[in-house]
Amino acid sequence: MKVIGLIGGMSWESSIEYYRLINEATRARLGGLHSAKSLMVSVDFAEIERLQHHGRWEDAARMLTAAAAALESGGAEVLVLCTNTMHKVAEEIQAGVSIPLLHIADAAAQRVRASGIRTVGLLGTRFTMEEDFYTSRLSNTYGLNVKIPDAGARQAIHRIIYDELVVGKVRPQSKARYVGIIENLVRQGAEGVILGCTEIGLLVHAEDSPVPLFDTTRIHAEAAVEYAFA
Ligand code: GLU
Repeated sequence: MKVIGLIGGMSWESSIEYYRLINEATRARLGGLHSAKSLMVSVDFAEIERLQHHGRWEDAARMLTAAAAALESGGAEVLVLCTNTMHKVAEEIQAGVSIPLLHIADAAAQRVRASGIRTVGLLGTRFTMEEDFYTSRLSNTYGLNVKIPDAGARQAIHRIIYDELVVGKVRPQSKARYVGIIENLVRQGAEGVILGCTEIGLLVHAEDSPVPLFDTTRIHAEAAVEYAFA
C-alpha cells in the first residue's frame, strides 16, 4: 500500500473525516488490524481563510506547496488536498512536487458519470460554485451539465460553511436551508447533487435529498485508498 499524504486543516472538521474514511476503507479491503499508511500536514485555517477572502491565492498556493513538499519528503507517495476550494491552486501545488495530486473534482466527476447522471447540481463555497476552476473541469473534462444555485442561495451556502460548519456548528435551520436549495436544483433538472465542500456532509445526508448526493469527502478519501492499492 502506498503512503497517502493529506494536506488538511481546511477545516480540521472535515480532515478528521478523511482520516476516518481512509482507515475504514483500508480495513474494509484488508480486514483484521489493517489501517492506512498516511501522513498529514494540517495548516491553520484562519491563515488560509484570510488569504482566500483577500484574493491572495498565490500566497495560499505557496503555503500549500510547502505542505505538499513536506509530505513528499516525509515519504508520501500520493497527495490528497482535503478541500474543494483550494483546488483553485491545485496546478501550482502539483508543479511543486513529483508525486501525483488526486484532484477532488476528477474523483467526484468519475463517480457521477459512473452513476449514469449527466445533469448535476453543485454546492460549495462561492469560489467553488462561481469560479471556473471546478465547474469547467466537471463540464469540459467529463461532459457534465452543472447547475449552481442562484445568487442568494450561493451567499447562504457560503455563509453557513464559514460561520458554522468549519467551526463544528451543525444547525437544523441551516440543514433545512440546504435541503430547500437542493430541491430547487432538482426542479431545475439536477438528477444528483455534488456536495462540493468537504464539510457539507456533516450537515446533509442521503436521506435528506430526493436525488443522490455525491459527498466529495467520502469520494475523495475512497479514491485515495483505491490509488494507494493500485
Ligand atoms: N472545506 C471546504 C471546501 O471543501 C471549505 C473550506 C476551504 O475554503 O478550504 O471547499
